[in-house]
Amino acid sequence: MIYLDYSATTPVDSRVLDAMLPYFTEFFGNPSSVHRYGQRAEFAVETARETTARMLNCQPGEIIFTSCGSESDNLALRGAAYAMREKTGANWILASRAEHPAVTKTLYHLEKYEGFRIEWLEVDGHGMVSPETVSKAICDNTAVVSVMYANNEIGTINPIRDIAEACRSRGVLFHTDAVQAAAYLPVDVQELGVDMMSLGAHKFYGPKGVGALYVRRGTPLFPHLTGGGQEFGLRAGTQNVSYIVGFAEALRLTGVEREKRTAQVAPLRDQIIGTVLEVIPKARLTGHPVARLPHHASFVFEHVDGNVLLTLLDAAGFACSSGSACKTGTPEPSEVMNAIGLPRAWGLGSLRVTLGSGTTSEHIESFLSLLPELVEKARRLK
Ligand SMILES: *Cc1c(COP(=O)(O)O)cnc(C)c1O
Repeated sequence: MIYLDYSATTPVDSRVLDAMLPYFTEFFGNPSSVHRYGQRAEFAVETARETTARMLNCQPGEIIFTSCGSESDNLALRGAAYAMREKTGANWILASRAEHPAVTKTLYHLEKYEGFRIEWLEVDGHGMVSPETVSKAICDNTAVVSVMYANNEIGTINPIRDIAEACRSRGVLFHTDAVQAAAYLPVDVQELGVDMMSLGAHKFYGPKGVGALYVRRGTPLFPHLTGGGQEFGLRAGTQNVSYIVGFAEALRLTGVEREKRTAQVAPLRDQIIGTVLEVIPKARLTGHPVARLPHHASFVFEHVDGNVLLTLLDAAGFACSSGSACKTGTPEPSEVMNAIGLPRAWGLGSLRVTLGSGTTSEHIESFLSLLPELVEKARRLK
């Protein structure tokens, strides 16, 4: 079986696992305890916070550890929406329609049950949000703007720096979901100019079930999990010490090895895109041809059922995806396919191929030698 679904999740790097293991057994204390068991665990969490802050170019006090990327998105959006409404009365939230469900579903909820107004920002045919679109949509009532750094389904990278600048010049909070981007793109929050940024470890060779939210000092934010005073009172609950240690080590390694990892996957990604568009009839690239994640190739095939194609690929020994992992099984085109304006006959036939540490050129050769006939077979089965 060949794994080509690194945007869904990645295996835990063995160096990350080694860093985590002592905190399950030897150093098992509760970081909030006063005694030395507690101090040792607290030291591990605070060291992880410092490492994370160094990688993001911010202060340790600006890092909130969470249980996953989705929770970071929830904390950022709910926390900022409630706090801004209380502070200024602003109750409009701006976000693009190509966001991950962790953002879109959270916003649906805020709209339906909490009385906020959501304005959906247009994306272009590549799924990109322009700074001008954001500028035009901002008004006195805008509480927070959320635009993802890179898209999980189609790989497009948004001009986050310029969008952040557009928000900052109008005094509006800006959040970015960088869960997918962090594996390959720079995450210097000063350079990006963001107020909040979500991360999740399992997209960059850390464990599932741990994430972080960067919150610029002074950003108004309500806690969304109440209880003890952990995480500066913003996220109650005893910290998951070993996973937090794993998060920081995975992020550190990603920072150190970013160029090497990019150099491994980008040429293979280009080979996939080139061959698919050349060899397979009625195939289109989804997402931006240039401003895209280096490990990410995504397509639509007309008159193909994406799930049928995935099943055929799986039977042939290849693990791919038809978009976001959460979408598999749904017989409708994803919201991202709709947002980029694809007709149904195309949008249903999406395929995402994402590469990573275990990918070799032999894997890609054998994948590409098989894919054209599987697409044809899927077309006949439709
Ligand atoms: C994976 C992903 C998430 C969700 O992260 P979890 O840690 O799985 O909750 C959110 N946003 C994007 C862009 C993602 O790729």
